[in-house]
Amino acid sequence: MNHRDLKRHLKATGNLQQELFSEANRIRQQEIGTNVYFRGIIEFSNICEKNCYYCGIRKNNQKTKRYLMNMEEIEKCLDFIQESNYGSVVLQSGELTTPKAKEFLLNLVEFTHKHYPEMGITLSCGEFDYDFLKQLKKAGTHRYLLRIETSVSSLYKKLHPNDHSLAKRKQCLENLKKLDYQVGCGNMIGLPEQTLDDIISDLLFFKEMDFDMFGLGPYVIHQDTPLATDENQKWWHENKENIFNMTLNFIALLRILIPTCNIAAATALDVFRPDGRIMALKAGANVIMPSVTPQKYRNDYLLYQNKPCVDGNAERCYRCIIKKTRSAHLNPVLGEQGNALHYLIRTNGKT
Ligand code: SAH
Ligand code: SF4
Repeated sequence: MNHRDLKRHLKATGNLQQELFSEANRIRQQEIGTNVYFRGIIEFSNICEKNCYYCGIRKNNQKTKRYLMNMEEIEKCLDFIQESNYGSVVLQSGELTTPKAKEFLLNLVEFTHKHYPEMGITLSCGEFDYDFLKQLKKAGTHRYLLRIETSVSSLYKKLHPNDHSLAKRKQCLENLKKLDYQVGCGNMIGLPEQTLDDIISDLLFFKEMDFDMFGLGPYVIHQDTPLATDENQKWWHENKENIFNMTLNFIALLRILIPTCNIAAATALDVFRPDGRIMALKAGANVIMPSVTPQKYRNDYLLYQNKPCVDGNAERCYRCIIKKTRSAHLNPVLGEQGNALHYLIRTNGKT
């Protein structure tokens, strides 16, 4: 597909969109089959030292009640993941680079690896320096998810304060690859002032960097953030349908461009439709990340507004997700880490 074709498919609806999904599914079937893998996600802390303009748990949002789960609470979540046979955990948090926070994270990975040796461990905790990433890898982390958010520097600057750097984020992604992590990236689709060309640039950046996994999703406005001006709120609500469709189309295009990668169906899609994540699976995604975060913290981990399942608990998320995956005629796989075939090929079978 040339640039024009990519753009045409990115905004596809109706028959063209169905054709795009069929092609993505044909390639999925041929390259990786119909398996869907799970990662129980534990949002273990919402304390963040950054101030991304779009995010509800940004440092300066005084309305967010801050928490850090203790080890006993996290252990219960890990037990649940083990008993449910999800196969992998994602440990996610705000970005915190104090010595104490780094020590906590390192201990957490060591603990998880020691007591749940079969479990795949993914971190999604923001940017760290090379040496600390090396320590985390050595402690047992298998994968790292770090979204670029947008690969376009002019747009990146509109979404972040001056002390946040796109170049630094890219360097961090390079370091993760150098350290042999299974590396995940992603973007947000439907950001204010983001053009179709910007989104295609992200797609080409992903292809060029040849990442193993993707966790991308729609931008969902959060009222207590600088990006939620009156004008942007109005714009966002008027463009919801479009943002949802473009995210599904982006997933399908990614499946076609990087056939053996893992693509997660983002929870944020369920803000648009109750079966948003399932539609993403049907468009080419093959990973789903049911929440294991204790109910009492869910309302404090609101990256965006109207986050689904905040009243739910891990058991309910488990039942719901298995049922929904089967309804999409895909094969939910329990008891496996579900590593990206892309990574296994890239590294000759190392995990
Ligand atoms: N602090 C870490 C991980 C937690 S945030 C980090 O930033 O990498 C995880 C992801 O949530 C971010 O990468 C961002 O893409 C997404 N996010 C934040 N605010 C959002 C919003 N308003 N709508 C959609 N996604 C959002
Ligand atoms: Fe912090 Fe991540 Fe939110 Fe940015 S996106 S404010 S780093 S939690």
